[in-house]
Amino acid sequence: MEPVRDVIIVGSGPAGLTAAVYTARANLKPLVIEGFPGAGGQLMLTTDVENYPGFPDGIMGPELMEKFRAQAARFGAEYLTTNAERVDFSSAPFGVWAEGREFRARTVIISTGATARMLGLPSESRLLGHGLSTCATCDGFFFRGQEIAVVGGGDSALEEATFLTRFATKVNVIHRRHELRASKIMQERAFANASINFVWNSVIDDIVGGEKVEGLALRDTVTGETSELKVGGVFVAIGHDPNTSLFGGQVELDANGYIVTHDGSRTSVDGVFACGDVQDHVYRQAITAAGSGCMAAIDAERYLEAQGDH
Ligand code: NAP
Repeated sequence: MEPVRDVIIVGSGPAGLTAAVYTARANLKPLVIEGFPGAGGQLMLTTDVENYPGFPDGIMGPELMEKFRAQAARFGAEYLTTNAERVDFSSAPFGVWAEGREFRARTVIISTGATARMLGLPSESRLLGHGLSTCATCDGFFFRGQEIAVVGGGDSALEEATFLTRFATKVNVIHRRHELRASKIMQERAFANASINFVWNSVIDDIVGGEKVEGLALRDTVTGETSELKVGGVFVAIGHDPNTSLFGGQVELDANGYIVTHDGSRTSVDGVFACGDVQDHVYRQAITAAGSGCMAAIDAERYLEAQGDH
């Protein structure tokens, strides 16, 4: 049987690895179950990151995550490069299973993130980070002076489209129906914006471009007609799925599957904390995830102190 640890961190994006830095420096010897192949989280799928403070010349997403990982390792964080298979939070110490082994800990920090929904086209993996993005706040700046497209008809799509008009000359919103799902206020804002053009009843059959996005092959869902739209970039904004399939029935989730947190990073189970995109569908930034990872580490440390365990 494995010894009972102070803390297990499940997930290794900016939130989990920041929690690892802090708990390691607090001498809690965290075990990070970092995931496979998803270790490092969404930043592993991006190229330049220009909005992470401390890197005035920008940094590549994977390189930034390698720095996070090395920083936590330096203070004694241990890594298991695999997915957690099951958890049991019904009583402390909590159980986390990975590689067929049971690990136990007095606290667990959940930082499994969220996954941006994609269209499912083969060209997506090739072009992600090369004109194809899932985050306007992160990448909008790269499309100054270009014509681009946003896919989706919900609040995210319209929010991203509106934001992107600061940079792009024209933003085409490609929606598969003729009616938006977004709230009325977002719709009104987008309709009033002269730089946004709606392409209704249209789906993307393919993203055109070898090394970077050059255009979209579109199909009209009513007439079946196909066309090509020349754009320098495309933002997929058809929603995110929180990575919480492990945690259903263990901690409280909201209607969309995100972990409910209160008073910082506390979940519905004392001693189990959550940070990053798995509990945040609003900000979704590396820096906010990292900040919440720090909060989770401090919350876990204080919890252990209050229990007299540390
Ligand atoms: P969402 O509301 O689920 O909307 C997803 C949109 O993408 C829908 O229009 C959907 O089309 C379309 N879509 C889904 N799969 C697609 C596919 N395979 N191909 C083409 N289109 C596809 O997701 P969201 O916009 O990310 O919003 C999620 C939640 O966050 C919502 O509750 C939203 O209100 C909230 N949110 C709020 C704000 C804000 O208030 N500022 C901002 C962002 C998000 P259909 O309409 O045809 O299903």
